[in-house]
Amino acid sequence: MNVGFIGLGIMGGPMAGHLIDAGHTLFVYDVVKVPEALTAKGATACASSAEVAKHADIIITMVPDTPHVEEALFGMGGVAEGLSAGKIVVDMSSISPVATKGFAQKINALGCDYLDAPVSGGEVGAKAASLTIMVGGPDGAFDTVKPLFEKMGKNITLVGGNGDGQTTKVANQIIVALTIEAVGEALLFASKAGANPAKVREALMGGFASSKILEIHGDRMVKRTFDPGFRIELHQKDLNLALQSAKALGVSLPNTATCQELFNACAAHGGSKWDHSAMVKALELMANHKVAPDA
Ligand code: NAD
Repeated sequence: MNVGFIGLGIMGGPMAGHLIDAGHTLFVYDVVKVPEALTAKGATACASSAEVAKHADIIITMVPDTPHVEEALFGMGGVAEGLSAGKIVVDMSSISPVATKGFAQKINALGCDYLDAPVSGGEVGAKAASLTIMVGGPDGAFDTVKPLFEKMGKNITLVGGNGDGQTTKVANQIIVALTIEAVGEALLFASKAGANPAKVREALMGGFASSKILEIHGDRMVKRTFDPGFRIELHQKDLNLALQSAKALGVSLPNTATCQELFNACAAHGGSKWDHSAMVKALELMANHKVAPDA
């Protein structure tokens, strides 16, 4: 297939690489620069997103946030300028579910399908082609793009219509944030009570409280390894999406709001680029006690 890929950063670079390795013809664009590793493999670097859309049948975006997707699709020299009827636009960035529905309508008006297909699994998952991909959009477009998703990920689910993929990703980020908070509180409590937090974590790993967050981030809290990983500033962006969407929907997310405040406290202490497991540091400030001494 002729595939377009826009946004070739930490995630997009390796994802586009897997599509070339699978034998697809790639047309690529990034506002900063196209990685040489991709052109060396045969990708064609384009001068704009519009040029990508002219050459490709399926156009994928993987950029940071909602305004970047809007710019790539509808800005000057954007995808919309190069589209013709029958093409498919696939946004794999993590962005606003509400804005996504609007973007899909504008792309549909040009005679094209739209899929929102954000991912979970991080840089490791992008490189290993083991991402979880949560998709919103029409069945037919999903079936057409699925062979491409299968080259980038493993757990691929069509959740529902446009916006539902992004909604699922926001739900994912709510669970991750609240679980980090729960693990942080539990280890802090145990440590203050005099128990060895490393042993407490080990004991809990076999029971009902076990989770990937307890395993990986609990270990980070005990060993004080807060280099990212997934940066607090990116998780703040995702919780902003949760809280803004909740406001638009008229629902209350009290513990998501609390987690965002804890991330805000970390940022106020210079921690925007710490790993998100460092949320525990905000809890430690309030408790005047650390899970474990800093290394
Ligand atoms: P990144 O900043 O490394 O890469 C984004 C790329 O998009 C950059 O190269 C940038 O130059 C380019 N870009 C920005 N605006 C553009 C535009 N208008 N046109 C063309 N290119 C443009 O970010 P990333 O870590 O690859 O993340 C991308 C998305 O994936 C984000 O929405 C992020 O939340 C999500 N995500 C990231 C991770 C992770 O661990 N990094 C995990 C899951 C999901």
